[in-house]
Amino acid sequence: MKFSNRSQVESLSRFRSEKFLTLSFFLDTDKRRMSKKEILVSAKSLLADARARLEALDAAKEKKQRLSADLDKVQELLVKEAGSNGAGLAVYSCSGENYLEILSLPEAPRNRIVFDRNPYVLPLTQILDEYRRLVAFLIDRREAKWYAVAMGEITLIDEMKSAMPKMVKGGGEREEARRIERHVEAALQEHYKKAAQKTFEIFKKNGFQGFVLGCPDNLASEIEPHLHPYVRERLRGWLRAKPADAPDVVLKETQALERAIKKADEEAVVKRFAAELEKGGRACSGLKDSLKALSMGEIQTLIVTKYFSAPGRHCVHCDLLYTEDEIKCPSCDRKTDPVLDVVDEAIEAAMRRDAQIRHVQPPSRLDHYGQIGALLRFKS
Ligand SMILES: [Zn+2]
Repeated sequence: MKFSNRSQVESLSRFRSEKFLTLSFFLDTDKRRMSKKEILVSAKSLLADARARLEALDAAKEKKQRLSADLDKVQELLVKEAGSNGAGLAVYSCSGENYLEILSLPEAPRNRIVFDRNPYVLPLTQILDEYRRLVAFLIDRREAKWYAVAMGEITLIDEMKSAMPKMVKGGGEREEARRIERHVEAALQEHYKKAAQKTFEIFKKNGFQGFVLGCPDNLASEIEPHLHPYVRERLRGWLRAKPADAPDVVLKETQALERAIKKADEEAVVKRFAAELEKGGRACSGLKDSLKALSMGEIQTLIVTKYFSAPGRHCVHCDLLYTEDEIKCPSCDRKTDPVLDVVDEAIEAAMRRDAQIRHVQPPSRLDHYGQIGALLRFKS
């Protein structure tokens, strides 16, 4: 099934087994970056790591046996699913309860396997946060259309046509012509007003995060004043598409606009980070310093290159994360445990501490700073 909305997350969250643990599996299957063979190789090492963890897991024998069956299940599914179209794959399995959900993801997740009492849904909510639900509002002098655009799909929400008085060409009294012109102008303003009102209602009803507006160039300044301030604040950009265009055209333009906005947002964050760093301000860079800032609770915004991962260490006693070379915890002097991906652990720990996380698409200027860094809180 294609992953596309919050209700799927809610339904996963409702599942819980009293007797068994649930396996949550996430795999980056983005064929723009990897061949199918490479995807299968990374899946294999992920599964091998999970089997080793399962071996060491402190749980009842039956629970462990079931999880082992869950891992077999995933392995079996992989050959077929890794070749499918999505950029990512999520599998939730609890064979003890006959529970299995397979989701194709529009965005690559970080590779990981989690054993827990219920489905691990954080990667899904991250994807939902990245993919905003937008309204595409298209209008011209007669017609208006509203589409919902979310997770790479487009659906018509509503449409409206206004009857316009006919302009009489030539002939007639000058006074009469002017009267008709005024009449048309009033009808047009009414059309814009009604459409703007409807846009507000659509927002209120569906809780969209933003909208994009498409209209003939000369209409932009006429329509904008009619928009409710709440709606105007959420205008993300302009489209060239018009109401008569096919949904496909509207979708493509909206996606291109979103990508451009996202890229500009990312560049702005990295620029602010680099400026702060270079003047010796409240910022740090590189894995080691970022982990240190994290353990001090100093991180305001963690900035990470997408797909960056690195092995590291974890102190169970202090619940702190370290780079690979810190075999002993500097804080309590006990031996630390290896973790497969300390970046992933750091992202999660930062979220638990209410830090913002910004993922930056490579290549970017962040690559020069060790692919990870942070803006730090001001000392109180
Ligand atoms: Zn420690």
